[in-house]
Amino acid sequence: MSKKVPITVAEGDGIGPEIMLNTLLLLKEAGADLEIEKIEIGEKVYLGGNTSGIEKSSWESLRRTKVFLKSPITTPQGGGYKSLNVTIRKSLGLYANVRPCVSYYPYIKTNFPGMNVIIIRENEEDLYAGIEHRQTNDVYQCLKLISRPGSEKLIKFAFDYADNYKRKKISCFTKDNIMKMTDGIFHKIFDELGQEYPNLEKKHMIIDIGSAKLAKSPCDFDVIVAPNLYGDIISDIAAEVSGSVGLAGSANYGDHCSMFEAIHGSAPDISGKNIANPSGLIQSAIMMLAHINQSEVAQLINNAWLKTIEDGIHTNDIYNPETSTQLVGTNEFTSAVIKRLGQKPEIFNGTIYQRFTSKSNTIKKARIQEKELVGVDVFFDWKGNNPNILAEILQDIGNKNLQLKMITNRGVKVWPDGFPETFCVDHWRARFVSIHPEKSINHLEVIQLLSQIENKNLDFIKIENLYTFDGEKGYSLGQGE
Ligand code: NAD
Repeated sequence: MSKKVPITVAEGDGIGPEIMLNTLLLLKEAGADLEIEKIEIGEKVYLGGNTSGIEKSSWESLRRTKVFLKSPITTPQGGGYKSLNVTIRKSLGLYANVRPCVSYYPYIKTNFPGMNVIIIRENEEDLYAGIEHRQTNDVYQCLKLISRPGSEKLIKFAFDYADNYKRKKISCFTKDNIMKMTDGIFHKIFDELGQEYPNLEKKHMIIDIGSAKLAKSPCDFDVIVAPNLYGDIISDIAAEVSGSVGLAGSANYGDHCSMFEAIHGSAPDISGKNIANPSGLIQSAIMMLAHINQSEVAQLINNAWLKTIEDGIHTNDIYNPETSTQLVGTNEFTSAVIKRLGQKPEIFNGTIYQRFTSKSNTIKKARIQEKELVGVDVFFDWKGNNPNILAEILQDIGNKNLQLKMITNRGVKVWPDGFPETFCVDHWRARFVSIHPEKSINHLEVIQLLSQIENKNLDFIKIENLYTFDGEKGYSLGQGE
């Protein structure tokens, strides 16, 4: 007998309350042992003047129960509202987003019978750090941050997940042919940690061809691990081609807390009509039950849910006269699942596995490498259009240890030896490096350089220090350099 487990529940917006009501009813009928704390999040909270969409007291509930079953919410249109999902994931350290994309052929139409892909997406970093700036009249910037420990715990999680659930193959998608440092470290860690999992077939693919292959031949994939943005995009592609976007659940795991939610949104177009499919939230609740050690109840619900799908009892979004026997609403669908509690599916194998935990704390801490400051990139808002003129001004700046090495515009080298054909905007980078390649510089020299730049009335908008780590460059070269 399992022990009553406290969980936090949010009914959300749009179809959220109706699918949650049905899901909770099903959980109760199946015998889930839960102590439910309800919180309010989403539209009402946003419109009440809280731009984060969640009250302080709700955080207290989440941090107390550490398990969150969440319905979708509506983010009001217009500026100023932060994404609540991103905030929750990052604040609670939910670093791994797991999205199973499974086809239910022949009962639900898909071109890919047998598809069963698990996407494991990094949840806290990458462009979702949300650090954006407008720097000049022309240019906006978003910082892509990928950390070694963040990637290590996610990739370790993905390998442990694949290993634990007896998956055969794991693919890693990045774009490290272009982003050699950020995506490069993600790929490198995949290769490094992969050595500890000899039983798994491992493959790295560039994200563009990887996504194309995933859309065309999803059955060739098993588990996929990817940084945040790519993972977000490919999980929607995979869910869509599995034919079951409305059926897919997802789980967000961290070392302390976890969150479970359907992958679809709040569907305001169908809200309050008793036509929404509650299956995405039901599938999320099944993942939650397995996580809180109530796998038997999870199994019971999954079997009944699969049997309902096999029996052709379908909501409008998946109804197909060829395979469906009955078109039902949200409440009737749930009643049909409840009626089948105790029954088993005939075709599908709905085996639920025991709780899975990744041991991210077993990752060895990387050695701290020797870091040396060897130069600085200074970014300018400069309205001129001839980089030779900018170079002349900058070369005139006297600094005994730093010299101008190159100027780029949006990453392309335009000085020395630039091409007049290169299109330039008002955002320039000048790279200054140590005159003596073997000698490092110090912060004071950078400050002196900036002071000299200021004396020339140039508008510097930011700097990036250039470091080497154990002698290896910690910065990219300019294109064309
Ligand atoms: P959506 O997923 O809500 O709807 C897309 C389409 O799918 C609609 O036609 C809808 O009727 C249908 N649909 C979605 N879920 C369904 C279900 N369970 N049963 C039957 N049909 C279903 O996406 P959207 O329209 O782009 O977004 C609507 C709102 O949801 C927006 O405010 C968006 O910000 C929000 N949203 C929230 C989350 C979340 O909270 N996790 C995720 C995505 C979108």
